[in-house]
Amino acid sequence: MTPPRFWEQKSLTELTREEWESLCDGCGLCCVQKLEDEDTGDVYFTDLACRLLDTEACRCTDYERRSDEVEACLVLSPDRPEAYRWLPGSCAYRRRHEGRELPGWHHLVCGDREAVHEIGVSVRGKVASERDTAEWTTLRVLADESES
Ligand code: SF4
Ligand code: SF4
Repeated sequence: MTPPRFWEQKSLTELTREEWESLCDGCGLCCVQKLEDEDTGDVYFTDLACRLLDTEACRCTDYERRSDEVEACLVLSPDRPEAYRWLPGSCAYRRRHEGRELPGWHHLVCGDREAVHEIGVSVRGKVASERDTAEWTTLRVLADESES
């Protein structure tokens, strides 16, 4: 039984596997190609999505085997906090790692998994798949993602 608002009662390292997985808002932002400015350390992401991302559902099509299939896949785990810098500021894992609350549009808060798409945080309708093209443009700095 998952306690209510468990993400506020536990640290990331204390979450069960089920709780950890449910924290993901399904935005798909971690599944696009990213660029780092070597001089400033700023991280940008592009509109080119990993070949395994379902760009409409914003879900990985081979989640269990993702690290085998895609070498650069950002497999998150509580014991790899260094990976959070590659996540957008909106990401629930990064938020909780930084001690911030989940936003009102997060499905654990509002109960609606479509809200992340409706509010425009997710990559739905904004990215192309590596399966179809190699072209990309830079979108925005990851840390600039919606804080609302
Ligand atoms: S950026 Fe964070 S919340 Fe969004 S899909 Fe990736 S892990 Fe989930
Ligand atoms: S392999 Fe990794 S980066 Fe690619 S869609 Fe799946 S989770 Fe995202």
